[in-house]
Amino acid sequence: MTVVEYFLPRSLAQAVDLLSRHGPDLLVIAGGTVAMPLINDGISLPRQVMGLRFVGLDEIEPSDGGLRIGATTTLTSLLRQRHVPMLAEAARRTASWSIRNMGTVGGNLFTPPPGGDVAVALLALDAEVTLEGSRGRRTLALSEFQTGFMTTALEPQELLTGIGVPAVAGETTYVKFGRKEANTPSVVTVAVRVARDGEVVTDARVALGAVGPHALRARKAEAVLVGSSLEPGAIDEAAEAAAEECEPFDDGIASAWYRRAMVRLFVRRALEELVQHVALEGR
Ligand SMILES: Cc1cc2nc3c(=O)[nH]c(=O)nc-3n(C[C@H](O)[C@H](O)[C@H](O)COP(=O)(O)OP(=O)(O)OC[C@H]3O[C@@H](n4cnc5c(N)ncnc54)[C@H](O)[C@@H]3O)c2cc1C
Repeated sequence: MTVVEYFLPRSLAQAVDLLSRHGPDLLVIAGGTVAMPLINDGISLPRQVMGLRFVGLDEIEPSDGGLRIGATTTLTSLLRQRHVPMLAEAARRTASWSIRNMGTVGGNLFTPPPGGDVAVALLALDAEVTLEGSRGRRTLALSEFQTGFMTTALEPQELLTGIGVPAVAGETTYVKFGRKEANTPSVVTVAVRVARDGEVVTDARVALGAVGPHALRARKAEAVLVGSSLEPGAIDEAAEAAAEECEPFDDGIASAWYRRAMVRLFVRRALEELVQHVALEGR
């Protein structure tokens, strides 16, 4: 069996209509960097495919001090925006230019681990996703959207239309560790955001990638950091907590044991980097 129909709707309304008429048999693709290789290799055999390239969801706009990112915004566009540096860095560390020119921010939320490097940064920024279908529009926290390995809260007749990044307080750091410096799958990705009142941490996010079924928040590590002054003891304790609570797996890139050890190391490094950055800014 092969693809017999390929739809290229010219608006979101047309796309939603096509989805409600054809149901789950219609495979949605955005940049196609994940979906197309599966079709070409005969692993995915959809009869009908719908491309989202022309539905007009590829804008990045400032919104209430935060950012509104259309679902089909390319990773290259995310890399080039200057509003949220951590998102530019996450995009820069994702794949290669050729993949970033096609791959989308929305698609990154569906990419199974060890992919999903941008999703990790979005999780640390408390991003929300907007879903739209024939029954209307709803908004969900990203932490509730990704539900398992390759599963999400998206209903069969819905599309992901956008990602909202609120105006959140605090300093951020993003670290991706892979077997190579560039264009490499992640062993672990860490995105940290810390808000402080003077020296004391009032809010913390520690998001981890490639060490669970989807991007995860290390909530025990976050709890350790809140109330601390990011002193070495608190950083060590948070790194240990993150290593304990992650859910690493074995694959051809790294063993679960190694991934857990790298969580301990790279959460510590991310927090130390953040401390250094704050110290330099204070000079
Ligand atoms: C060589 C290579 C290297 C890569 N390296 C990395 C890396 O380092 N880090 C990383 O994170 N990823 C990496 N990836 C994965 C991928 O390129 C990116 O995650 C990209 O963001 C996926 O976006 P896409 O638009 O191409 O997804 P697509 O292939 O278009 O979509 C995949 C699936 O997601 C769903 N989907 C996508 N958008 C929507 C939507 N708006 N509404 C509903 N459903 C939707 C559909 O089910 C679709 O079939 C790599 C891929 C390749 C091929």
